[in-house]
Amino acid sequence: IVDEAFLKSQIRTVPDWPKPGIQFRDVTTIFENPQAWRAVMDSLIHRYMNIEFDRIGALDARGFLMGSTLSYALNKPLILFRKKGKLPYHTVAQDYALEYGTATLEVHADTLQKGDKVILADDLIATGGTLLAASQLVSQLGGQTLEAASIMDLPDLGGSRKLKDAGIPVFSLCEFE
Ligand code: IMP
Repeated sequence: IVDEAFLKSQIRTVPDWPKPGIQFRDVTTIFENPQAWRAVMDSLIHRYMNIEFDRIGALDARGFLMGSTLSYALNKPLILFRKKGKLPYHTVAQDYALEYGTATLEVHADTLQKGDKVILADDLIATGGTLLAASQLVSQLGGQTLEAASIMDLPDLGGSRKLKDAGIPVFSLCEFE
């Protein structure tokens, strides 16, 4: 539903952040813009409203905003994939390589039931490491990632390709070179 050119025009690009040479695609300008944010969420809701699945998995932190809205609109349980050390109960953990370093993603060990079909949500796919780690946690807990949804894909960094090669379908609303 969302027009890709319109969406791209509403995303701010910050040069040399967080490091020289990185063009950071800043999605806070989407959250500040109800027309753009509504178009993003309407597109995602439209995509998933007729698909059978069990849970929305939202990635810390901007993915929480997408996941929360999807969970509300589609009446599905929301599960939170968090950076290390934030979750209070028993967790499972997955290390992964980031575009700018390494990190660990955690999820509560009882957050899924075996066989659950999960839609993952994060704002952006760069190297794909974050969404891949989340999908590995889903697998560890006996679930299945039905699709990874993002607002932006940076295909030149190979993340969406890597996810697809790992058997995880990817859906993105726009692409930046
Ligand atoms: P990946 O794991 O390399 O795919 O990186 C994706 C993760 O890093 C997501 O959680 C993004 O929010 C964040 N990220 C990486 N690059 C950018 C960017 O240019 N803009 C916004 N977020 C980014």
